[in-house]
Amino acid sequence: MKLPIYLDNNATTPLDPRVLEAMMPYLTEHFGNAASRDHAFGWAAKEAVDFAREQVAALINSNPKEIIFTSGATESINLAIKGVFEMYASKGNHLITVNTEHKAVLDTCQHLEKMGVRVTYLEVNQAGLIDLNSLEAAITPETILLSVMYANNETGVIQPIREISAIARKYGILFMTDATQAVGKIPVDVETDLMDLMAFSGHKMYGPKGVGALYVRRKDPRVKISAQMDGGGHERGMRSGTLNVPGIVGLGKACELCRLEMASDTKRMKKLRDYLEAELLQIEESQRNGSKEHCLPHVTNIAFKYVEGEALMLGLKDLAVSSGSACTSASIEPSYVLKALGLSDDLAYASLRFGLSRFTTAEQIEYAISHVREVVGKQRQMSPQ
Ligand SMILES: *Cc1c(COP(=O)(O)O)cnc(C)c1O
Repeated sequence: MKLPIYLDNNATTPLDPRVLEAMMPYLTEHFGNAASRDHAFGWAAKEAVDFAREQVAALINSNPKEIIFTSGATESINLAIKGVFEMYASKGNHLITVNTEHKAVLDTCQHLEKMGVRVTYLEVNQAGLIDLNSLEAAITPETILLSVMYANNETGVIQPIREISAIARKYGILFMTDATQAVGKIPVDVETDLMDLMAFSGHKMYGPKGVGALYVRRKDPRVKISAQMDGGGHERGMRSGTLNVPGIVGLGKACELCRLEMASDTKRMKKLRDYLEAELLQIEESQRNGSKEHCLPHVTNIAFKYVEGEALMLGLKDLAVSSGSACTSASIEPSYVLKALGLSDDLAYASLRFGLSRFTTAEQIEYAISHVREVVGKQRQMSPQ
């Protein structure tokens, strides 16, 4: 077995070899610009982009015309949130989001606050879930957008998306969701989930880095957003810039593979995740962070009391996982997501996030279990509490 073992698939996934194979011709002989209308090189590129748009749309049950290609989820989120506030400035200046969102959302909201937008940050309970009554109570006549992530990147906790979209519709507010961790992993359907805008990314679903998409609803209601980049009017005027053809082809293929293989991948990964989790919870003084019931099938986040976070990570050198800390420019901070669930700083530091992929094997999970058990045991021996 090759070491270290990669169980940090919420940070990024490996590229599926079948995705690379689909991309290769567009990195070599089919190098055309999809906007070149006058020759075969351009036509081939455009045809590939059109096909990828259909593959992406099929995964989320949308119309291909509702897909805007971007450089990734961060750009999609910026385009959606800033784009809505620029477009509908006359309708109101209040935004509702959640304090466990990804930084791509929180930093965008902060930017808008500097521009005079009022932002409400909803809290979550111990399970990581928002309270729907608090959400409804936060709505004012000035509210124009609600941004709630589909599934959390640190805990895997899935928010009640259909209930949230129903509330947004009841009050005539647009609903945007950062579905970067959900699309390709669990069934996401724009017609039953009823979001108005949805961001997702290639490299979280076995596709390439540097490519993502924004879903923008075209009917009931027809959502309009202001472009954040000018020049050329690509992507129906919403995102100018020469299209990343190989990246888009890769995203399309990744979406197709997820659509066809999601059910079997999920079944396998969930079994391995459940086993990993059960074994790790056998370790004394360990606990699961966030709802078990409302969680992605391939993710678990576990805290180990009485160990020091940094020493834990150093000990686990054969295992690529994420700890409950985040490096900011100045220091190492405990994860704000875990703190929002009520964890102490120490317990947040001593938490590990495990994210499985379609390539994770039973052998790797066995190794991970014994490695964590050994390192946690050693740590506790070295520093008896
Ligand atoms: C990874 C991630 C992002 C950022 O995606 P990029 O494509 O890397 O910009 C945003 N939100 C969530 C929930 C993520 O997991």
